[in-house]
Amino acid sequence: MQQTILVTGGAGYIGSHTCVCLLEAGYQVIVVDNFSNSNIIAPERVQQITGKTFTVHPVDICDRKTLAAVFAEHDIDAVIHFAGFKAVGESIEQPLNYYHNNIYGTITLCEVMAEAGVKTMIFSSSATVYGMNDNVPFKESAPTSATNPYGHTKLFIEQILQDVCIADPEWTVTLLRYFNPVGAHHSGLIGEDPNGVPNNLMPFISQVAVGRLKKLKIFGNDYPTPDGTGVRDYIHVIDLADGHVKALESTGKQKGVAIYNLGTGHGISVLDVVTTFEKINGIPIPYKIVPRRPGDIASSFADPKKAKNILQWIAKKTLEDMVRDAWNWQQKNPNGYA
Ligand code: NAD
Ligand code: UDP
Repeated sequence: MQQTILVTGGAGYIGSHTCVCLLEAGYQVIVVDNFSNSNIIAPERVQQITGKTFTVHPVDICDRKTLAAVFAEHDIDAVIHFAGFKAVGESIEQPLNYYHNNIYGTITLCEVMAEAGVKTMIFSSSATVYGMNDNVPFKESAPTSATNPYGHTKLFIEQILQDVCIADPEWTVTLLRYFNPVGAHHSGLIGEDPNGVPNNLMPFISQVAVGRLKKLKIFGNDYPTPDGTGVRDYIHVIDLADGHVKALESTGKQKGVAIYNLGTGHGISVLDVVTTFEKINGIPIPYKIVPRRPGDIASSFADPKKAKNILQWIAKKTLEDMVRDAWNWQQKNPNGYA
């Protein structure tokens, strides 16, 4: 029987790509988003890509009454929970906003879910929970910590969801720890559309390529890495989205909480990303080396074996696919959805 999945934050970057994969896998989708960091055009484009329609509720997950009405209106089987704020720097400036939106939002969502008898959730966690530890590759069992309010919200929510599962064995929660999602759907219809100057590497490079920004600043070339620049595990957003479908398929066999890294397992340096982008897209990316960014670690990449063994999921797309699709999206939408 066709399952109905409520996707919070489904208009956002990862949420919109996950909606595409869910619809293509035959799920019915309901989106809840307050558009605080997204645009109504994104779900419209998802419908264009898939040829399938779905309902989008302009609802804040902190608004219990309106959220409960969504659960009353639809027969929901499971929730994929993306909604939240995600900018590290902003979280340091506005900690209460982050704790309120991310933690209170999640608690409200869980309460409404429990009242509606929906007790299956997939949650967007992050590799940021591995903290300043750079004993790579990270296994799910590695020690966790946080250095900023955003990271704390992910850690606290992971803990809250584990406690919910202990208290009520009817709950099934999957914590997906994403590494560095990049790229876009190959159509170029949906992609990453950050507000203001991007904090993340790939959208910054794409905006240099399209002429919105002059020069990339590379934060440090004196790390203990092969070329001195920071190493990360970049994962194509479509592979990441597919990981949610695999996680969903696995919830029937699961009891309580399961934690999975979603990464490729490959460490890629900043210079690798820049030179691959230049080579594949034929566009020079001017850059200068500047001091390290406070809070950055040298290396972060996943041990993705657990997701492979249990979810039968692996990341298939290459760095070449990532830079090609990132540029295709940026080129077709120089100003994002605006
Ligand atoms: P995004 O900002 O593009 O998407 C989040 C969506 O949630 C947006 O559409 C926003 O409008 C919505 N939202 C925020 N607060 C809401 C609220 N109170 N009620 C309803 N909707 C609300 O971010 P993304 O990159 O797609 O990230 C999705 C999730 O994955 C987030 O939880 C983020 O922390 C997590 N994550 C992202 C990354 C990354 O690098 N992009 C890495 C690890 C984890
Ligand atoms: N980075 C950079 N210049 C930028 C943005 C990022 O050199 O304008 C580097 C950053 O120091 C890190 C890597 O690129 O080594 C990935 O950074 P991003 O912010 O995308 O992800 P995160 O640090 O959260 O893993």
